[in-house]
Amino acid sequence: MRSAVFVLAMVAGCAHAQAPANSPVQAVLFENVRVFDGKSERLTPPVNVLVVGNTIQSIGALPITAPAGAEVTRIVGNGRTLMPGLIDNHVHVVMTASTQAEMVDPQATFTSIEAKGAEEARQMLLRGFTTVRDLGGPSFGIKKAIDSGQAVGPRIYPSGAMISQTSGHGDSRLPTERSRRFFGKPSIGEELGFNFIADGRDEVLTATRENLRFGAAQIKVMAGGGAATAYDPLDVTQYTLDELKAAVEAADDWNTYVTVHAYTVKSVRRSIDAGVKVIEHGQLLDEDTIKLLAQKGVFLSLQALDPAPPTAPANVREKKDEVIRGTDNAFKWAKQHKVKLLWGTDFLFLPSQNKNQARDILKLKQWFTPPQALKLVTHDNAQVFALSGPRNPYPGKLGVVEQGALADLLLVDGDPLANLDLIADQKNLVVIMKDGKIYKNTLK
Ligand SMILES: [Zn+2]
Repeated sequence: MRSAVFVLAMVAGCAHAQAPANSPVQAVLFENVRVFDGKSERLTPPVNVLVVGNTIQSIGALPITAPAGAEVTRIVGNGRTLMPGLIDNHVHVVMTASTQAEMVDPQATFTSIEAKGAEEARQMLLRGFTTVRDLGGPSFGIKKAIDSGQAVGPRIYPSGAMISQTSGHGDSRLPTERSRRFFGKPSIGEELGFNFIADGRDEVLTATRENLRFGAAQIKVMAGGGAATAYDPLDVTQYTLDELKAAVEAADDWNTYVTVHAYTVKSVRRSIDAGVKVIEHGQLLDEDTIKLLAQKGVFLSLQALDPAPPTAPANVREKKDEVIRGTDNAFKWAKQHKVKLLWGTDFLFLPSQNKNQARDILKLKQWFTPPQALKLVTHDNAQVFALSGPRNPYPGKLGVVEQGALADLLLVDGDPLANLDLIADQKNLVVIMKDGKIYKNTLK
């Protein structure tokens, strides 16, 4: 695949290439740390935590010895907090790294756009995000390069190209671009792998299967109007029930699921009827529909979005404000009715905002205590990954610190359960580990 080829070439010679098969087992021993396990209201008393390979092997107050022959790295915690890596359930690794103007600049190439995405992925890991769900865009190549150790970044659950109807939220054509159906030419967004403009059952099936073929962990469909776009009003419902069902059936045949972009009651209820398992956004829902999500066990992936920048068109700013006004009720009702809640940032086309990815978690203080907010961005966020079934690229436990879980860990200078603000500043993350490998260690 063209994207993979580029990223692999770009990062050749990186220090994180995989070790030869006969090298000793790698182990890391965290000594004297207090653990936030992803679920509890409080930290454990001081313990030692042993990671062997990519797995947490043991946690205990007594001294732990590493297996014979292992090469052990000791980290003296001095009572600092060991917690699960952060999870952002709604990112666009490639689209978050460039502005819209940069994407359509005739000088830009797929290679240059992807290179910015790869660098942004590296920054995400350094902010403490060890896993992200990519909800649209060409992230397959970057994911592959990271997983093979040739690039640095979080675990990525890719969706591939967003699937949108003509005139839908993922119809990103320039004002001058005409419909492929009538005029024969795919749009720039489709060429670059950002979106599929697919109408009718047949095209939706093909678009879904095309993403699955390239390694999608889940399928992203646009089921209603959006805030960040100039052409589709917020109130519109997108895709007929039958088209939505086509995506769900094709995903289900690959034993994975569909998540939809949807804000409104009508688009969300139609999606639930079609068998969709996750709703992205939902800030304009009423209380009854949020109750229905809880009854049906459908996940709600919510964000506390920022207002559109003053440079955005007036209709975009108005739409964004309407969504922001609905956010308070959505979080309150989701909490009250015990909806399976997920959290994400959904930063898009505004690279200057990306440095605030971890800071965005602090907005959750409006609705949650620090332990509840941290549980949401670790343990709770990880619950959605099981829906990918055999398409889950990282089977194993994520979002928790417990024996047998995958070793995605942050060592935090201080107690984030008492002071949530600590996680917003990456200088407080003194160790960052993903899959048992250390990517940052300032204690050395
Ligand atoms: Zn999004």
